[in-house]
Amino acid sequence: MTTPAPIATVLLARPVPQAYDYLAGDADLAVGQVVRAPFGNSQALGVVTGFRDRPENPDVRLKAITEALTTPAVPNRTLDFVRWLAWYNQHPEGAVLKMALRGAEPAKRPRKTPIPEPNPDHPGRTLNPSQHSAAASLGQALDDHMFSTWLLDGVTGSGKTETYFAAIAHLLRRDPTAQVLVLTPEIALSGDVGARFADRFAAEPPLWHADIAEGRRKQIWQAVARNQARCVIGARSALFLPFQNLRLIIVDEEHDSSYKQEEGLTYHARDMAVARAHIEQAVCVLASATPSLESQWNAAASKYGHLRLGERAGGAQKPDLQLVDMRATPPDNGTFLAPPLRQAIAETLAKGEQSLLFLNRRGYAPLTLCRTCGHRLTAPGGENYLVEHKHTGRLVCHLTGFSMRKPKACPECGEETLVSVGPGVERIAEEAQETFPDARVEILSSDLSDTPKVVAARLKAMEAGEIDILVATQMAAKGHNFPNLTLVGVVDADLGLRGADLRAAERTFQVVNQVAGRAGRAEKPGRALIQTYDPDNTTMQTVIRQDREAFVRAELNERQALGLPPFGRLVAVVVSGKTLGQVEAAAETLARTAPQAAGFDLYGPAEPVHGRIRGVWRRRLLLRADLGKDVQGYLKAWRQSYRLPRSVTVQFDVDPQSFF
Ligand code: ADP
Repeated sequence: MTTPAPIATVLLARPVPQAYDYLAGDADLAVGQVVRAPFGNSQALGVVTGFRDRPENPDVRLKAITEALTTPAVPNRTLDFVRWLAWYNQHPEGAVLKMALRGAEPAKRPRKTPIPEPNPDHPGRTLNPSQHSAAASLGQALDDHMFSTWLLDGVTGSGKTETYFAAIAHLLRRDPTAQVLVLTPEIALSGDVGARFADRFAAEPPLWHADIAEGRRKQIWQAVARNQARCVIGARSALFLPFQNLRLIIVDEEHDSSYKQEEGLTYHARDMAVARAHIEQAVCVLASATPSLESQWNAAASKYGHLRLGERAGGAQKPDLQLVDMRATPPDNGTFLAPPLRQAIAETLAKGEQSLLFLNRRGYAPLTLCRTCGHRLTAPGGENYLVEHKHTGRLVCHLTGFSMRKPKACPECGEETLVSVGPGVERIAEEAQETFPDARVEILSSDLSDTPKVVAARLKAMEAGEIDILVATQMAAKGHNFPNLTLVGVVDADLGLRGADLRAAERTFQVVNQVAGRAGRAEKPGRALIQTYDPDNTTMQTVIRQDREAFVRAELNERQALGLPPFGRLVAVVVSGKTLGQVEAAAETLARTAPQAAGFDLYGPAEPVHGRIRGVWRRRLLLRADLGKDVQGYLKAWRQSYRLPRSVTVQFDVDPQSFF
């Protein structure tokens, strides 16, 4: 094979908007070939995207490609996906390519053990009728070999995982080259799904996430590109792997907010999974017990097929849900567990069963306050409160990672009168331990997750019954199986409803439902007690009645009235920089230069919830567009119409999820 033309266009894995011309030289090149090429004073990794006979710009002296790497080519459809994602989210193509090339360089030391082949004929469970019919629809869709998206919708424990395993088995049997991607929102959950996959298919699947070792990363990348890895389980970055024949993408827990990459290259992995499936003409399955409003809306509009799983698989019952009115039965001073919840924990302990206390707040206390002068401890150069972590004795900014030893005296007035205000999981664990001295109390939160192993070990201990009371953040809301867990206490169900977030109610509904669904997964009936100061709130009421339809109706009505997603589109624009005056001026410039167009509204500039982080000032604008408008075209025109000082950064976030 020789190179078809003297000039190759190469997209570099650098923040460049497009491919550049290079002299092909005598290297054997083809589209998709991974190469190294000079860029400025350094060498950059890139991919050949095409060939031409004459340079685009005859006045530029072209440089030659340095080397072609001995690594498999990136498939065309993977490159199409990279370009599409860059366009949709308005990122430089090269920056997106960089994600697709993580692991592309040949391993130095190739691994001897290949990635094991999953065995679809390894016996699985006998599906119940509703699982069977859902799996049959997916099987038919896979046989059709066309793009389609399915919402796999069923309460926690209804057997969604078994159902999509059946679809995977069907595919692997039918098509010896088909590949499958299972996305999970978190590493810990990848492991959980991975273990079940290994059980079902008698083969350990490759797990792909941010923390895998470099050698393993390369092995997986190459195996995927060579079609020697049939099924990958991974976090959102697995979307960029160079699949040869991707036929099926499963997005597990599709409603989970961590699918949205919020910093740097923003994108929503769930939506991008649907886009990738479209490009690959593959089947996409979105699985959830509490689907996002967008997905429910798409299912209702018949854009997605809707597969419902009814009853819980294996005979487990729905948990009994009760609100604990914190006004009527308040906890003792300085404590956070109200009498009804304490009593329920005592009863559960007496039966030798397990309890889960859920609070979506890491650390010991979310605020440290001086009782003398009222000073609240914040991060330097920021306005964010520092969170106390007792096990390390430090105050931590959860936004920036800044931390300091907790001082004895108030840095403002010098008095030794600092108090911890409010609870985090550490404080709840402390209270639980003091109240039940003989109980085995443990914490599960992402603070432990420097090593995913610690999290995995704790989940195992819980599963094995070695923990009586697990105090957990939303890490526990996910699909773990704890057969002896029969009580869930939601410590503060109002937490999610504070703050000006479009999705606050939706998230509260989801998380309370998910956590409550952890109780009574095996044969034992479970119950969930939900502590709230606002028991009459619509969200609380619909949670208690498990009336998702009513919740969705109310929420969709509200959004429709405001033209918000899914009845309109949003783009968040964040302007940031070191000088407040410059940031404010830039935000004004942006507002002034925004194109006037029918169907687009611009709000702001406004001061965000976090107006200053690590000494960097921030202002935000919000663009709203009617459905069907060319949002990307609008953004492109807008970005060409202003000039800003280099000291100011502008970030566009298409389909934003949070509003900080
Ligand atoms: P979901 O993904 O909806 O939470 P799972 O697929 O994890 O549900 O199933 C919940 C539990 O029920 C698991 O322990 C699973 O092994 C079991 N299970 C699922 N389907 C069946 C079935 N058809 N027969 C027996 N047990 C099942």
